[in-house]
Amino acid sequence: MLDYVVVGGGIGGVLSASLLSHVGRQVILFEAQSYLGGCAGTFQRKGFYYNAGASTLVGLEENMPLGRLMKFLGLEPPTKEIDPSMVVHIADRQIRRYKSWEDSLAEIESSFPQLKHRAFWERVKAVSQDLWSLSCDLLPYPSPSSPIKALLKHPLAFLNTILCHFVSSRRVARFYLGEFNSKYESFLNHHTLITAQGYMEEVPFSVASLGLTYPNLTNYYAVGGMGKVVESFASRIKHVRLKEKVLSIEPMPWGFLIKTTLGEYETKRVILNTTIWDAGNLVRELKPYSERAREKYRKMWGAFVIYMTLEDSGLEDLSHHHFILLDKPIPYTGSRSLFLSLSEREDPILSKDGTRSVTLSTHTHLHLWEGLSSEEYMERKQKALEYCMEELYRHIPSLRYVKKLALFAGTPKTFRRFTLRYRGSVGGLPAVMDYFPFNFPPPLTPVENLYIVGDTVFPGQGWPGVALGVINLLKFIEKDIGIC
Ligand SMILES: Cc1cc2nc3c(=O)[nH]c(=O)nc-3n(C[C@H](O)[C@H](O)[C@H](O)COP(=O)(O)OP(=O)(O)OC[C@H]3O[C@@H](n4cnc5c(N)ncnc54)[C@H](O)[C@@H]3O)c2cc1C
Repeated sequence: MLDYVVVGGGIGGVLSASLLSHVGRQVILFEAQSYLGGCAGTFQRKGFYYNAGASTLVGLEENMPLGRLMKFLGLEPPTKEIDPSMVVHIADRQIRRYKSWEDSLAEIESSFPQLKHRAFWERVKAVSQDLWSLSCDLLPYPSPSSPIKALLKHPLAFLNTILCHFVSSRRVARFYLGEFNSKYESFLNHHTLITAQGYMEEVPFSVASLGLTYPNLTNYYAVGGMGKVVESFASRIKHVRLKEKVLSIEPMPWGFLIKTTLGEYETKRVILNTTIWDAGNLVRELKPYSERAREKYRKMWGAFVIYMTLEDSGLEDLSHHHFILLDKPIPYTGSRSLFLSLSEREDPILSKDGTRSVTLSTHTHLHLWEGLSSEEYMERKQKALEYCMEELYRHIPSLRYVKKLALFAGTPKTFRRFTLRYRGSVGGLPAVMDYFPFNFPPPLTPVENLYIVGDTVFPGQGWPGVALGVINLLKFIEKDIGIC
């Protein structure tokens, strides 16, 4: 009998399975698609490769969750440092977000000279640094002893951050900066939107500080696509079954019976890399759990993503990532920002044969893509695509004239199909004050020996969040593993 079955090969599933395999557990990971990574995967279409969702990567240093896992597993995923991490386009200004704190602050100051930024940003920096230093010691979550342990080990960091979990980041910004205009508000809001899935008003200052300083961390480019980083972690898993979808999981007196599209398996424990809203589709006993989650956690986002292959000749030198903030909402999305990511010219996979792989993504409300006839759906998709491309050309005009060898869009419907996520929602559970920190779902479920990892359980989305969530789960189920 297996020790663990891991259902799903997103970041959470792959990291869990690699750690458990590494310490000698018998593990099989099942992934429904032909490639690993889910929202952080890299897929192929008509001979070209694209990052499905995630394109930015941070946290590979030894004091960060993902870096700890790399060290534990002895891995070095194919990455290289980039700086600036992104260029923010707002009205006619461009703000380069450098790793260097002073350079980054100087960019912000020169774009918004009317504000006294330093005190606010110093506070943001201090809180984010303290939170990263506390992160491991606050685990396992939830546990009454963890905060006490963190307080005793890092008293200053703990006391410096504790109240920040309970105050909105907009209030703190107002306190330090006074009145600020809508452009600056948009600048702050969109940093928290892409990192915490909420605007400043709803996101606690603790979480916002991590989002606002994300560009100041060492940012990495994933060579060959984000999927290569996932594959690097997956290299530690002995048994990976691609194109094998798990259909049902039945609790048994001895463990669980797993039925897949290709067979049946027996295991003592199960780790689901599904959302909390989907778990009940696989495990009958978790139906009430998922129904409650759908009632309780209603805030969620989808993504509208345009995938492009550009001919490299004639393409000007551009930074890897551009965050374009708009005045008006994009039709059929409700969002006012675009995130552009370009593959490096030298990338052997994403930029093969003189091409460049590009994604242009934005948040979207899910209901705008639901209940449509296929004509309505196609029309919306086309209109949103054209609008996004025009906005892109307005901000980076040279891109209009670059030859597009491929251009297509993905909607929540697409994400539902390829990641099997509830309503096609992505980005995880928003880290907003209604949910974060004490109402955030833990990795434990009402069914004994059945757990959840991924971006809808504590502490949430992206490589850093999901990696910390995996460490959190292991603190419950494999106490001696000793990662942090
Ligand atoms: C457009 C976009 C941009 C993003 N940008 C970034 C970024 O720049 N940086 C960053 O760090 N994060 C980013 N994120 C967020 C990040 O990608 C996600 O938070 C993270 O990848 C989610 O990982 P997960 O572990 O929850 O798994 P998921 O990505 O949800 O993957 C789950 C996997 O499980 C599989 N699965 C589900 N059910 C079954 C089943 N029954 N049987 C078999 N397999 C199953 C699915 O096929 C899927 O592969 C972005 C997300 C999106 C959508």
